[in-house]
Amino acid sequence: MSVLIYIDQSEGHIKKASFEALTYGAAVAKQLGTTASAVVVGTVQDDLPSLGKYGVSTIYHVNDAALSHLDSQAYTKAIATVVEKAGATVVVISNNVNGKSLAPRLSARLKAGLVSGTVSLPDTSNGFTVKKGVFSGKAFAHISVNSPIKIIALTPNSFQTIAGEGTAAVETISSGITANSKVIATNKVTGQVPLSEAELVVSGGRGLKGPENWGMIEDLAKMIGAATACSRAVADAHWRPHHEHVGQTGGSIAPNLYFAVGISGAIQHLAGVNRSKCIVVINKDPEAPFFKAADYGIVGDAFEVMPKINEAVKKLKGLA
Ligand SMILES: Cc1cc2nc3c(=O)[nH]c(=O)nc-3n(C[C@H](O)[C@H](O)[C@H](O)COP(=O)(O)OP(=O)(O)OC[C@H]3O[C@@H](n4cnc5c(N)ncnc54)[C@H](O)[C@@H]3O)c2cc1C
Repeated sequence: MSVLIYIDQSEGHIKKASFEALTYGAAVAKQLGTTASAVVVGTVQDDLPSLGKYGVSTIYHVNDAALSHLDSQAYTKAIATVVEKAGATVVVISNNVNGKSLAPRLSARLKAGLVSGTVSLPDTSNGFTVKKGVFSGKAFAHISVNSPIKIIALTPNSFQTIAGEGTAAVETISSGITANSKVIATNKVTGQVPLSEAELVVSGGRGLKGPENWGMIEDLAKMIGAATACSRAVADAHWRPHHEHVGQTGGSIAPNLYFAVGISGAIQHLAGVNRSKCIVVINKDPEAPFFKAADYGIVGDAFEVMPKINEAVKKLKGLA
């Protein structure tokens, strides 16, 4: 019995969600009295041995040049090979965009029970039971997994990363697996804090009246080093790009600060942001549902409140 964690990387750099998955997987291994190892696929520029500080002893690096870009089918094959090699019985993977395309495939291939959207460590006192969020985070389900191999897909930002000491041994594997698809071009959003990794997020809704008024959202975001987000209504109206839309049908985030301006706080929006550590709401309607979820609220017109906030932050940052 051992635990294997999938390390997600993009363009050779390890994603923040992977550090959480590593910490989580190492904690599961400790709970089961076994060891934790990890697998990474494709070319990696970051220092792999140093990931030992998250509690893994070995990192299997499937380093085929053909696997430099995520190809779900090929990556699944590569990870499955390592699961067998490591004799892993528990596989931990982040439930981020890439994890969502890999975990179900891996589950089918390995005939392994999968719990996606896990938010805490499994209960191993009597079997193997995993808690996950359901109904857009309104309730929790406790799923008992009985298959010999178990896959846990961890909700990003639900488990605190803990780095200790230690170095991992790296074993390079050449799998000979070829990708089924070829990446011809990648269009990346540049110069912004990626929303999925952001600690601070400033978000706008239909209350901002139109895309021409986003300057005040962007100004605040820039001053405090935040990512920008929006409600679905805003993305649907093409005021903002769809990758900024958060909620049940958009991104699910859990930043330290979520700043919501002119957003009503519909249940579908809250589903994607209600794990934020601190929520600040600005809305001119005192009855707006978002105030019930807010830590701090300002009842006021965004067009009066935001310039004052931006002015104050500017002074505070010495930018005035
Ligand atoms: C199946 C399904 C899935 C969905 N998924 C999502 C999702 O993932 N994400 C999402 O966001 N929505 C989602 N929705 C839509 C959701 O129900 C809401 O319609 C949407 O979130 C509303 O966006 P909004 O709050 O920006 O706009 P509105 O509902 O129009 O609210 C605007 C708010 O701004 C306030 N306001 C107006 N003027 C000002 C001002 N000058 N200053 C301050 N405040 C002001 C108003 O009081 C109001 O509260 C989904 C809906 C369905 C049915």
